[in-house]
Amino acid sequence: RAKAHGRGRAEIFDETLRLQLARQAELEAAISRGLAGGEMHLLYQPVVDVASERLTGYEALVRWERPGVGLVPPDRFIPVAERSGLIGDVDRFVLGEATRQLAEWLATAPGTPGRPEPTVAVNISGRHLADRRVVADVAEALAASGLPARLLVLEVTETVLVDDPAAYDHLTELRGMGVGIAIDDFGTGYTSIGQLRSMPVDTLKIDRSFVASAEPAHLELVTLMIRAAHTFGLTVVAEGVEEPAQLARLRAEACDRAQGYLLSRPLPAAQAGALLRRDGVTAPAG
Ligand code: C2E
Ligand code: MG
Ligand code: MG
Ligand code: MG
Repeated sequence: RAKAHGRGRAEIFDETLRLQLARQAELEAAISRGLAGGEMHLLYQPVVDVASERLTGYEALVRWERPGVGLVPPDRFIPVAERSGLIGDVDRFVLGEATRQLAEWLATAPGTPGRPEPTVAVNISGRHLADRRVVADVAEALAASGLPARLLVLEVTETVLVDDPAAYDHLTELRGMGVGIAIDDFGTGYTSIGQLRSMPVDTLKIDRSFVASAEPAHLELVTLMIRAAHTFGLTVVAEGVEEPAQLARLRAEACDRAQGYLLSRPLPAAQAGALLRRDGVTAPAG
């Protein structure tokens, strides 16, 4: 009886697994078609200087408008793309589009003397970073767009740097090309603050779970992260700032930059371009 019961369960499990695999294969094919068919686009979320509240640049965030389905959030399809090996294609699309877009904005609005040029940050998946091809992918995006390497920032998560020596080497090489490197979602992995010193990075992005937390221990951690990062010469970006009180606190802690719904939601390209001109990071065209 117990045995029959066990077999029944195994069959149900097989069936569930089969369905899951079929759904995954379907989603993979749809992602692939979506990339080829122009169903993906980017939104640009402003990154703001905390002291002056002026725009310093954007983080590019991918969006997939799946026909007949609607908007599929990146948290739903990026993990599938990572498992299936399609992530390289997604990242290459985002790199190409983000660099082309910023180069175009700069060409039509040559900039204000004394103001730093705006940067664009692109998320690079750990899986792609472990692939040697990532170095050529970034070089190609820069060459095709003509964007100076210093205006591109690659966002990577801390686990990648700790777990994978190949990824670490590729990042070192990319940094050598002059590209900025940011650790994304810092605090959610298991990197100690001290390890930051020896990492090939120049920017630390504090995860929004710490920034938005009301727990005294979390707030104290934010303070520590900012101090340590500054000791190591890193720029600090707080992500997920939603409340004026959070921004005030970050300003008091000398946090360099902030990003979040309080400052702006991710914007369509046309609006991001207009904001860039209005904020005075670049001069109005003509
Ligand atoms: P992330 O890189 O940490 O991106 C920040 C996410 O937080 C974005 O969600 C953004 O819209 C959201 N966010 C920004 N400000 C706030 C805020 O004040 N409150 C709240 N609650 N959320 C805020 P999104 O666009 O859904 O992206 C989620 C994640 O998906 C990203 O996290 C990143 O890991 C991944 N992702 C997004 N775009 C790409 C991409 O082009 N390539 C790759 N490889 N991954 C991407
Ligand atoms: Mg990011
Ligand atoms: Mg982040
Ligand atoms: Mg995050």
